[in-house]
Amino acid sequence: MKAIQEHSETFDYVIVGAGTAGCVLANRLSADPSIRVLLLEAGGRDINPWIHVPVGYFKTMHNPKTDWCYKTEPDPGLSGRSLDWPRGKVLGGSSSINGLLYIRGQAEDYDHWRQLGNTGWAYDDVLPYFIRAEDQERGADDYHGVGGPLAVSDTRIRRNVCDAFIAACEELGIPPNDDFNGARQEGAGYFQLTSRNGFRCSTAVAYLRPSKRRRNLKIVTNALAERVVLDKRKATAVRYFADGTSVEVRARREVILSAGAIGSPQILMLSGVGTGAELRQYGIPVIHDLPGVGGNLQDHLQIRAVYKCTEPTLNDEVNNFLLKMRIGLEYILFRTGPMSMAASLVCAFAKIRSELATPDIQFHFQPLSADKPGEGLHPYSAFTASVCQLRPESRGRIKLKSSDPFAYPAIHPNYLATRTDQETAVAGMKLTRRLAQSPAMAPYVEGELLPGPDVVTDEELLDSARMLAQTIYHPVGSCKMGNDEQAVVDERLRVRGVESIRIVDASIMPTITSGNTNAPAIMIGEKASDMILEDAKNV
Ligand SMILES: Cc1cc2nc3c(=O)[nH]c(=O)nc-3n(C[C@H](O)[C@H](O)[C@H](O)COP(=O)(O)OP(=O)(O)OC[C@H]3O[C@@H](n4cnc5c(N)ncnc54)[C@H](O)[C@@H]3O)c2cc1C
Repeated sequence: MKAIQEHSETFDYVIVGAGTAGCVLANRLSADPSIRVLLLEAGGRDINPWIHVPVGYFKTMHNPKTDWCYKTEPDPGLSGRSLDWPRGKVLGGSSSINGLLYIRGQAEDYDHWRQLGNTGWAYDDVLPYFIRAEDQERGADDYHGVGGPLAVSDTRIRRNVCDAFIAACEELGIPPNDDFNGARQEGAGYFQLTSRNGFRCSTAVAYLRPSKRRRNLKIVTNALAERVVLDKRKATAVRYFADGTSVEVRARREVILSAGAIGSPQILMLSGVGTGAELRQYGIPVIHDLPGVGGNLQDHLQIRAVYKCTEPTLNDEVNNFLLKMRIGLEYILFRTGPMSMAASLVCAFAKIRSELATPDIQFHFQPLSADKPGEGLHPYSAFTASVCQLRPESRGRIKLKSSDPFAYPAIHPNYLATRTDQETAVAGMKLTRRLAQSPAMAPYVEGELLPGPDVVTDEELLDSARMLAQTIYHPVGSCKMGNDEQAVVDERLRVRGVESIRIVDASIMPTITSGNTNAPAIMIGEKASDMILEDAKNV
């Protein structure tokens, strides 16, 4: 048996994972100097300069020093392809390597969570937390806040082809929208991003930097949580591995898992909470048979159409030495231009199924193209219009492959498994084509490269979606909140059937939000911190 060292200190709360939500929690809980908080993070400190330059995701994604570099199992819905699933492994978690796009989702997403029985999660309940988090460059209004930790700002780069895409949307009845997080989500316009003065605003920057000198907050990096230690059904400690040793640290009040949609269900299963038969298969003693752990996995699948462009795009700028130098200089001098850019410039929310109350697809438009996101840009002028279904019906699963905490679990996304998801994918591709052929875009389009003009029938379009589609990096839902038998946490994010463990991250979403998932994960951290502090008072 390997030796386990006892941590010399005891903490009130041990938070596992200093990602998007974990950093929010660490800040809010340690704001009270009488509460002692330990934050454990498997990755290192966020010292790589590319983390802080917005366009640095090209350097931090697929880099094992900052990315877990997960791969999915071969997926039947994608013709047996396996996808890269990047996840941040560094302070700030995925908010340190993500595309910076700031989207909250639709009011109806949260009203639906409430409708599923989750008291306290309706839009009116969660809006104050989005506002509390925010430092909106445009100022405060009914939907936006100023003075919060998270800087939200306008893009510092625009291109004619992007303006043309917005005009094309209008021609097809998708109205212009300059605030997707305000009264109405539907429409087309430039994204806002989580950045301040041209630098990335991860939650490590927003929430940890201002709190890291607090004496009651201890942050341990390069510390991989192996499991939660449960005494009967009560969590008492976390066992983690750091500096070649397994250490056990006691949590006086609670253990909080904020390890993300892959990490949190994995740790829960390794701790004996999950589907009994699956745990026994790997020799893990079953503390509580909870079949929903790892289930209900959802993601946004993007289908990327690429068009050859009649005008130079970022492909030409980046592939030309002198223009590349100019890009660097522009960023150094003014913090503007392509280096200040989020993963996409233009967004459009639209309805494929006209009978729906709210948009069911989202476009991400980029004045550039590559074989895969994060790879080198093509040596010709081109742009990418990616479309994704906002509320897919398909559900996947995270499953253990081993009882070894260092082994990655199996990720089964199960994309495009239902008829609605398949039809929406095909209809989204057709709408992309109509946009490219519209009067506003026509002058910019030299020809369709992907899926390509030979792909014509619905069957061919679906086949090519299966061959081309990629994740847009939004796995959620694998420890869902609710009160049915697949629910893992209740509406106060307490794990069902055991005591003193909560889950606070994107894994608790019962259904995926209609848009990018970082802002919702921050809101979850904000709301959870209030619930945890309230519950502590009522003990
Ligand atoms: C490449 C990429 C691009 C994206 N682009 C956008 C975007 O533009 N806009 C947007 O809104 N969303 C985007 N997202 C999604 C968004 O960033 C995530 O939904 C959000 O960060 C999830 O937050 P979380 O707190 O659930 O998990 P994470 O932020 O992933 O945090 C989990 C943390 O737990 C740590 N951890 C895991 N296991 C262990 C363990 N065993 N022990 C200790 N620590 C552990 C991880 O290292 C990580 O730091 C993107 C994500 C990626 C990866």
